[in-house]
Amino acid sequence: MSEPAYVSTRGGDRADFRAAALRGLAPDGGLYVPERWPAAPGAEGRPYRDVLIDTAARFVGDALSSQALAAACDRAMAGFDHPEIAPLRHLGPNLHLLELFHGPTAAFKDFAMQLMAPLLTGVLGDGPDLLLLTATSGDTGAAAVHAFADLPRVKLVVFHPLDRVSPVQRLQMTTTRAANVLNLAVRGDFDDCQGLLKALLADAGLRRDRRVSSVNSVNFARLMGQVPYYLTTAARLPGARFVVPTGNFGDAFAGWIARAMGAPVGTITAAVNRNDALERAFATGLYDRRPAAPSHSVSMDVQAPSNFERLVFEATGRDGAATASVFETFARDSAVRLSPPLLEALRREVSVGSADESATVAEMARLHAETGIEVCPHTAVGLSVARRLPPSDAPTVVLATAHPAKFETAAQAALGRAPAPLERLTPREGAVERFDILDADGAAALARVQAFAASA
Ligand SMILES: *Cc1c(COP(=O)(O)O)cnc(C)c1O
Repeated sequence: MSEPAYVSTRGGDRADFRAAALRGLAPDGGLYVPERWPAAPGAEGRPYRDVLIDTAARFVGDALSSQALAAACDRAMAGFDHPEIAPLRHLGPNLHLLELFHGPTAAFKDFAMQLMAPLLTGVLGDGPDLLLLTATSGDTGAAAVHAFADLPRVKLVVFHPLDRVSPVQRLQMTTTRAANVLNLAVRGDFDDCQGLLKALLADAGLRRDRRVSSVNSVNFARLMGQVPYYLTTAARLPGARFVVPTGNFGDAFAGWIARAMGAPVGTITAAVNRNDALERAFATGLYDRRPAAPSHSVSMDVQAPSNFERLVFEATGRDGAATASVFETFARDSAVRLSPPLLEALRREVSVGSADESATVAEMARLHAETGIEVCPHTAVGLSVARRLPPSDAPTVVLATAHPAKFETAAQAALGRAPAPLERLTPREGAVERFDILDADGAAALARVQAFAASA
């Protein structure tokens, strides 16, 4: 198998898998996608591991040997505590939950990050070491810390907004003993963290002695690990409608990829919380960003979903210039009007629904009262949107993106008590938290990250 080529959504760059994964963002500011979507491997009746290996092989090509790729996939699956990896749970007539929280940090981010760690180290080759930067509203950071802890030749810096991640999420990141991880709590919100991240990624000085990349879902290597659960689920429930709790639109786009590869994925609905920029864009054609408002589903408090750019690229018929124009206008004006043909094309690909805070809490309470099942607030947003879809004979699958035990405040609001605890989320005996607190100030962040990057 030869190495697949990747192109930037802004039309100005081509790269192989290694370069695309190690850069994260393309030099022209776009996001990488494969030059063409490969055909899906068969998934019917096959173990999850085999589907994962075959899927990854189609995107990695010969950047890794087949033995190294299989080892990476086995490593990725090792931390999951359910034999099916991504089991389906039947909730009622034609309604299913796809449980994606059986990984080591109990959120679906583990699917991507557990695979990305061995892939990135596998393609490092000769040349300088790798500095990875990430901004997190909680789950990405926890999954990244767990996946990259103590890996040779890699350092990881995680920015999280001070006091705005759940206590469980914070402890997952800050109690690591790994010397190659630096946690920075920023006095500000998630967008401030993302702003610092972007400034650092663009800093030439930081790149002088090392490679610098991001593990946020702008990196295509992160989406690959999320495609297989759509393939295995669609094989069991052909034509199923998928409802995907959405923040940066990475997971929903992974479902779109599965369908583009030929899997029998039915409609895809992105479910957003009160931060509904995407829903407003689909309804009115005006894509505009407002400050993100805090919600129970913290990992979805995003107003400028980065992976939307990949969908726009596809909906324009892969027109890099048109895509660049949309997102350069958006970056400059914080708003852009989508042309009627583009809007129509986007609506053919996915739909968008939302659930506000009261609908989220009401759904958590309702499901628990009716079935005894507890879900996290993100999953509840998906369920609430799913219940309002038009009637259909097709099965509906809601992605359960995190374990409810991670989100205590939401459970208190919905059930009047703490969520049932999960053993693997309890910090180990004598665990010590380590993190620095920073102002949302580029120079201060750069100095701190530079010192960490240069340390032994
Ligand atoms: C990250 C996250 C989401 C949103 O996923 P995107 O790929 O950013 O759209 C939803 N739920 C949970 C629990 C998450 O951690």
